[in-house]
This record gives sequence, structure tokens and C-alpha cells, in this order.
Amino acid sequence: MFANLKPLPTDPILGLMAKYRQDTNPNKIDLGVGVYKTEEGDTPILSCVKKAEKFRLENETSKSYIGLAGDLGFCAKMESLLLGEHPALLANRVRTAQAPGGTGALRVAAEFIAKANPQASVWVTTPTWANHIGLFSAAGLTVKEYPYYDYENKGLLFDEMMATLKTVPKGDIVLLHACCHNPSGMDLNAEQWQQVADLAKEVGFTPLVDIAYQGFGTSLEDDSAGLRLLAATVDEMIICSSCSKNFGLYRERIGACSIISESSAVADIANSVLLSVVRSIYSMPPAHGATIVDTILGSEELTAEWHQELAEMRNRINGLRSTIVEALHSRGVAQDFSFIEKQHGMFSFLSITPEQIERLQKEYSIYIVGSSRVNVAGVSKANINYFADAVATVIK
Ligand code: PMP
Repeated sequence: MFANLKPLPTDPILGLMAKYRQDTNPNKIDLGVGVYKTEEGDTPILSCVKKAEKFRLENETSKSYIGLAGDLGFCAKMESLLLGEHPALLANRVRTAQAPGGTGALRVAAEFIAKANPQASVWVTTPTWANHIGLFSAAGLTVKEYPYYDYENKGLLFDEMMATLKTVPKGDIVLLHACCHNPSGMDLNAEQWQQVADLAKEVGFTPLVDIAYQGFGTSLEDDSAGLRLLAATVDEMIICSSCSKNFGLYRERIGACSIISESSAVADIANSVLLSVVRSIYSMPPAHGATIVDTILGSEELTAEWHQELAEMRNRINGLRSTIVEALHSRGVAQDFSFIEKQHGMFSFLSITPEQIERLQKEYSIYIVGSSRVNVAGVSKANINYFADAVATVIK
């Protein structure tokens, strides 16, 4: 029976990673995969994480299961990190399940939505993180798109976005990126978030906020401000969070799926469905990542250290955005790259052609995905001149 299977194409980003690994050019640069990198090109373990792991090693007393919702201390701390002292939390309307990464949280959310309203469509930004489409489709939901990034002006198609969202049927889901939009780096401002929130209330769609980069944009508070505003306006929403980037815990697979319901009583019902979804996919989540986050957020000292390390990552990325713009403009390129500085998080589209992307790879061993999305954190003081010279040459 397996012989009847048709081979599927490799994920473009994973395929690019494999090619990069095989490349022997000492000047090669990987701007493809979405992990944070230091000036030295490493993705190190945060010092606060190392300390929390040491603490865990010394204090852990059991390897028994941690329960369907995972580590309850972790879940409560994630709710506070995401929402602050929010009215929805004070009214006991939020329920959270720890999940295996942001991806696991999204898959749990997808199955939860399929149980609540199997007819629901999930509306995603054009473009969006490619895996969104696969994740929701896999749960049998229809995925539709709404305009978002303006490729021509390198900004937002906000009017077009609002016009499409006005047509969304009541009971459908609208997925929003809380901050550091992947792949474009273009975020909504506070006023735009309020307009989306008011529209959600008026039209009756349920927002699903994907927050995979809290603290990578402007600050922990600012990056969740839109999400908090939405939660203050609508009765129901879903939040899928990830600790992969901001805690650097990628391979530990730690994230959370939070459901906000209209009342505490409905929240209990939603929670029973949420937990049954978890039970039918992986039964119970792994403990390690949650313990680390719980330990860090439970200690004033480790939290302060985490804030410091997170700020270092964010400041490096924002500094690199300016460095890239300056380096390209100083080479007299005709294209205006100043938009890179106005965007947030690890990604921006370089807005160069597929032929130019191919030349960068073939002639310079610079690896960029086909959409021209670059991971800004892959640039460093050591490779910026090589990178800018190469880009300036291929776009001339
Ligand atoms: N959402 C978005 C927008 C992302 O970019 C990512 C990671 N690339 C995720 C969710 C999932 O992150 P993870 O599963 O690694 O925690």
C-alpha cells in the first residue's frame, strides 16, 4: 500500500537549509531559516535558560505525566505574559493548554475550531507563514486569504484588508499576527488594531492571534498591545503563542493555546473540548520547555536576565535593519530599501526577482527563500559588506 503513495516536494525552507549545509564556500550566508543568530552566526542557549535547566536538574523529583493542559504554572504565567492584568483574566474567561511549540498550539486551535464550527473558514493574511495553510487545512477547515502586504509600496494594504474583513461571515476565524509579521515584517499600528477589533465585534468573526515573536519587535508590552486591545473588545478569541524565539527554546517545542470565552461558564466548556483535542493528538505535552519558562518567569532575577537577553536580540535585529539599508544605499543602488527599517522582527522581503535570488545563491552562496524573504539576523558585521556587494551587483 505504501508503494501507492506519491512523493511530496520538500518544504522549500528545509530544502534550502540542506543546500546551504552542503555548500563549501567559506563566505556562504544563510538568510533562509527563521532562527535568531548572534554576530558569530550561532543560535546559543540563553544564560537564563541554562540557569533554569540547572535548577530543574537539581530539583525535579518525578518524570510522571504532567496532565492534559501541561504545566499549570507555565500556563498561568503565559497568560500574564500575553495579556498582562487583563479584564478577561480577572473575569476568569481564559483557559490555556501548553502545546508542543507554536505549531502545536496552532494545530490544537485548528482541531478546536473544527469542533466548535466545522463549517468555519480561517482567513489568513496574503502572504502568511506557509505552514498556516497546511495546519488549518489538515483539520478539514477551509483556508481563505485577505489582502495584507503591499508588495509595490512595501507597506500595508489596510483599506483592502478592512474591505475584505467586512465580508467575512459571522463565525469564521480571522488569523492575525500579533507582531513581527512572518514573512513581511509589516505590523498593524494601535489605531489599526482598534479598527480590526471594532470590525470583529460588528461582523462577528472570531480573531485568532498568532504570537510567535513577542519581544522581538518593540518590547514585550508593545508587541502584545494589539492582542490585548482585541481581547478587551471581543467576547471570544484564540491566542497561539510560541516560546521558540523569545526564549530561544526552538527544539524544546514549547508554546500554548489560550481560549478566551464570553463567560467563565463557557470557558469551562471550551476547556473540556480543548483538553479532549489534546488527548486525541498527543495525550500530554512534553515537560522540559514548560519547566524552563515557568522557572524563569517565577524568579525575579531570572526574569530580569531574560528581559536583558531578549533586549539584546531585539536590539541586534533592529540595528541590523539600519545597517542593511545603509550598506545598500551607500553602494548607490537605485532601489529604495528604507522600508526594511520600518518593519519589525526577523523578516522582510528584499523585493528582488527570482533570477536575482538564484544568482545570489549560485554566484555568492547567499541563501534566500524564493519569495525574497530574508532573515535579517543572518547578517553580521563580518558578512554585511560581502552581502551588500553581492546584492548591489545582482540588482544592477
Ligand atoms: N507562527 C509563526 C508566524 C511563525 O513564524 C512560527 C515559527 N516559524 C510559528 C508560528 C511556530 O513556531 P514554533 O512551532 O517553532 O514554536
